[in-house]
Amino acid sequence: MNRPVIIVGAGLVGSLLAILLGKKGYKVKLFERRPDTRKTKQYAGKSINLALSDRGIKGLQLAGVLDDIMKISIPVYGRTIHNTDSSVYFQPYSADGKCNYSVSRAEINYTLMNIAESLPNVSIHFNERCTDVDFQNTTVTFENIETKKTSTEQAEIIFGADGAFSAVRLNMMLKNDRYQYQQFYIETGYKELIIPPDKNGNFMLTNHESLHIWPRKEFMLMALPNPTGDFTCTLFMPLEGKHSFEQLKTKEQVEEFFKIYFPDAVPVMPTFLHDFFHNPTSSLVTVRAYPWVINKVALIGDAAHAITPFYGQGMNAGFEDCIILMQLLEKHQHNWSIILNEYQQIRKKDGDAIAQLALDNHIEMRDKTANPRFILQKKIEQWFYKKHPDKWIPLYDMVTYRPDIRYSEALQKGYYQDKIMQEVLNQPDIEQNWETEKTEQLILHLLEKNPFRYQ
Ligand SMILES: Cc1cc2nc3c(=O)[nH]c(=O)nc-3n(C[C@H](O)[C@H](O)[C@H](O)COP(=O)(O)OP(=O)(O)OC[C@H]3O[C@@H](n4cnc5c(N)ncnc54)[C@H](O)[C@@H]3O)c2cc1C
Repeated sequence: MNRPVIIVGAGLVGSLLAILLGKKGYKVKLFERRPDTRKTKQYAGKSINLALSDRGIKGLQLAGVLDDIMKISIPVYGRTIHNTDSSVYFQPYSADGKCNYSVSRAEINYTLMNIAESLPNVSIHFNERCTDVDFQNTTVTFENIETKKTSTEQAEIIFGADGAFSAVRLNMMLKNDRYQYQQFYIETGYKELIIPPDKNGNFMLTNHESLHIWPRKEFMLMALPNPTGDFTCTLFMPLEGKHSFEQLKTKEQVEEFFKIYFPDAVPVMPTFLHDFFHNPTSSLVTVRAYPWVINKVALIGDAAHAITPFYGQGMNAGFEDCIILMQLLEKHQHNWSIILNEYQQIRKKDGDAIAQLALDNHIEMRDKTANPRFILQKKIEQWFYKKHPDKWIPLYDMVTYRPDIRYSEALQKGYYQDKIMQEVLNQPDIEQNWETEKTEQLILHLLEKNPFRYQ
C-alpha cells in the first residue's frame, strides 16, 4: 500500500506502532532525537525495569513480537515487603497466580527497534529532533543534532510518540486556540540503583520472582529482577524536605540512611554509594492534554498521557493505545479521519483514569502495603473474589489483568468497592472473624446497591 506515516519518537510506543503499521503495509519513517542507543548505551543509569502486564502483552501479541520480549523478561508473582526489622512478607498479585513480567526498558526498546528496522518498509532516523509541526500540510521539521541541518518531511499521518515532554504536543498547544493542557510534578523523584548477582551469577534476594518493596511512608525502595541474576532498584523519595534526596549530600549521610531504613538491602548492594552519587535523580510528571488529534496528527503513549509509574501501566497503556488504533483501522478500513477522532474519543477518558489510578497507587505502595488494615482488606477481597468472581474483581486485577475492562470502568468500580470494604473493615472483631458467612452476606448486601454489576 505504501501510504506514508511519520512517527516522532522511537521509544517503546513509537517502535511498537511502527511494527504494527509496517506489517499493515504502511511506509513508516520513525524519527528519534537521540543517537542510536543500541550503539551508545546511553540508557545506562536511567534504564529502570518495567512491569509488563496483560494490556501490554496483548499489544505485543498483536504485533507478533511477544516471544521476542518474553526472552528478555522474568515473571513476577507479587510483592515481597521488607520491614525495617528485616522481616519479609509476600503478597501475591492475584488470587489465582497471575503474574507480571519484569523487563528492562532499554532491552525492550532495543528489541522493538530491531524488529521494526527488519521490516522493509520501516526506517529509523536517529539524531533527528522534531522542532516544528505544520498541521495543515501534515509536515514535520527536524533538526539534526550533529549537523544542525533542518529538514522537512511530509506524510499522510503523523504520530507524536515523543514521550512526556512531547514536541508534537507543544506545537499543538502553541498553534491551536483553547488547547487544554495541564502538567504537574509530584514531590517524589527517583534514582536507579542495583543489586548485582552473586559471584555464581545467582540472585542475591530470595523469592526473586517478585517485586521487592521497602515501604517507608514518605519514601520507598523497589527492586525488580532481571534474567541476568541482578535486580534493578528504584529509590523513590521526596526531592526536598524531610527524608529527601536534597538531604542526602555526603557518603556518610547516605550510608547511615540506608543502614537505618534498608538494613537487609545494604549487604546485597555493594555499589549503592557509588550508584547514588553517579546516577541521575529524576522527577515524575503527570500530563493531561486535549485534543490528542489535530487534522491528521495524533498523540500516542506518554505524549498523550504521561503518568506516574506507581501502577506499572505507562508502557502498558501506550501499547493499548496501539491496539485500539489497530482495531479502528480494521473497523473503518484505513479511513484515518474517522479512525483518529474515534481513537481520541475512546482513549482520552482512559488516559485520565489511569493517571488517577497511578497517583492513588503511589500512596498504596508507599504507605499502605505494610499497614495491617490494608493487608486485611486485600485478604478479604481475594477471599470474596474467589467465592464470587462474577460479583467482585479486585481493582489491581481489573487494571493489570483484565484488558476487557477499560481503565475508566476500573477506576469507577474500584472506588465503589473500596467504599464497601471500608464498611466491612469497620465491623467489630473483623480482624479475627473475617472468613465468615456474616462477612460474605454483608458484602453481598452492600453490592445489591451496586450500580456496577459484573455481568
Ligand atoms: C521510574 C519509572 C518506572 C516505570 N515503570 C513502569 C512499569 O512498571 N510499567 C509500565 O508499563 N510503565 C512504566 N513506566 C512508564 C514507561 O516508561 C513509559 O510509559 C513509556 O516509556 C512510554 O513510552 P513512549 O514511547 O510513549 O515514551 P518514551 O519511552 O519516553 O519514548 C519517547 C521517545 O521520543 C523521543 N523524543 C522525545 N522528544 C523528541 C523530539 N523532539 N524529536 C524526536 N524524538 C523525540 C525520546 O528520545 C524517546 O526515545 C515507568 C516510568 C518511570 C519513569
